[in-house]
Order: sequence, then C-alpha cells, then structure tokens
Amino acid sequence: MTLPVIDAHIHIQPFHMMKPAVQETFWRKKANRAELESLAEDPRRLLRQMDADGIERVGLINYVSPDVMGFTSEVNEWMMKYASSDPSRLIPFGSIHPAFTRDAGGETDRVLDMGARALKVHPPHQLFRANAYQQELPGLAEVYRRAQAAGVPVTIHTGTSVFPGARSRLGDPMDVDDVAVDFPDLKILLAHGGRPLWMEAAFFVVRRHPNVCLEVSGIPPARLLEYFPRLEEIADKTIWGTDWPSPGVKSMRQNVEQFQQLPLAGASRQKILYENALRVFA
Ligand SMILES: [Zn+2]
Repeated sequence: MTLPVIDAHIHIQPFHMMKPAVQETFWRKKANRAELESLAEDPRRLLRQMDADGIERVGLINYVSPDVMGFTSEVNEWMMKYASSDPSRLIPFGSIHPAFTRDAGGETDRVLDMGARALKVHPPHQLFRANAYQQELPGLAEVYRRAQAAGVPVTIHTGTSVFPGARSRLGDPMDVDDVAVDFPDLKILLAHGGRPLWMEAAFFVVRRHPNVCLEVSGIPPARLLEYFPRLEEIADKTIWGTDWPSPGVKSMRQNVEQFQQLPLAGASRQKILYENALRVFA
C-alpha cells in the first residue's frame, strides 16, 4: 500500500552561501554533490526527485546563521523564490536571527509576508538557547509571538550537531519546555527528538504540551523504536522527516521504506507520514 508522504525536513538550500569549513563537512562523504547542487539550482529537478521517491510534499529547512554556517538573511528571499515554483508541494521555511537584526518582530513579519509557511530555530547553529528571550535575547520572544499569532509552526533543532563552530549544548529540548509554557498556542516541532543525548527529555516535552510535536528527521528509521519505545503513544503528534541529504540518509524513499517495516499500527503510520503534518502545516 502506498501512503501519501510529507517529509517535513529536507535540506535543499543555497549551498553556495555556506562557509568553506562548513562546505567541507557538508560535502564530505557525499558522492553526488553535483546532483544536489543542480537540485538547488532548479526546483523542477527536486519535484522530479520527489515524484521518483513517492513524496507528495517537503518542508524546505532554511535558517539564518551568518557566523557559524554562512547563511545571511538573504536565505529567505532565496527560499521563497525557490518554493514558489510549486507552493502545493514545497513548504518553505523562513528564519530570523534575533542577534543579527534590530527589529526581530518586524523581520518576522517580513519573512512571513514573503511566504514562509514555517520557521526554523537552530540553537546549536545560531548560538542561543531556544528560551534565550528570558535573558539576553528579548527579540526571540517576538519571533515566537508572531509565529503563534499567524498560526505558523516553528521547527526547533534539538540534539547535537557536528558542524564546525556548532554548540551542541544548546540542543537540549528542555529549553523548549519554556517556549511551550510561554507560548502555549505556538505549534512547535522538536526536530530530531533530542538525538542522541536527550530523547527522554524530548518525549517528556512532547507529552507535556498539547502543541509540541516530535519531528523524527535524522533518526535512522530502523532504530526509531529504540530511541522512542513509546512512539505509538504519541502517534497523534509525531511528524515524519528525513534530514535528507544528510550523512546516512540515502534517499527520502529509503527512509520511508524502513519506517514501514516498524511494528506500528497502520493508522499510526498514516498519521506520522502524512496526516499530522497536513494538520500542523495547514
Ligand atoms: Zn536538518
């Protein structure tokens, strides 16, 4: 049986903006660099790849991180233009870096007006805690507040990162507990479920807050139930994603096939692969 699939987390980005050391890490172990670069040049190629992989829609992850990754706020223009080639299948993420703008609220409005259908916050690559609005970064509250008002989901990276300059300590999902308390109507996706250090914290935060979902990208599907043995309990708030083309993720399709082998109820699989994302990204 083929189910429709939404992959809420892939990386086809303006690769050319990445800093040299980041490029080196990113392209290492990737034999298909030219192919991936050509996907970034032409969204029609990505749409064909999605057809080949049986993927109906993708979330195009995108974030501002000028100091660590090399992505300036121009990533937003790039991404909205890219995704405009098929808004029914390409879900563009936008991003605001509150430490690199004087008006985080205004910038959030600008990015949403531009067409962002979700926002990404990446603490280890943006070098602030997800709850840093409580202290040194009040502008971050404006990002969450406006996303909440607009009904736009925010994907927050949780877990470690191996990119040069990344601060993995900032990937603790417990910081998101504060965000969910302070912005109770904000739709939050916990990307990577805190892998590989904080799965229990991630599971707690998902169960504790009605509007926090687990987003499973980056977790090898064959091991998903080792990481989250009680996944079935949160099948209503678990969202599919792969992190393709990150290391270890050969294709969007292969991950779906591996996921389909897990001993989960059919209805749970359908919710995780498609229905939950449909609801959250509505
Ligand atoms: Zn990712």
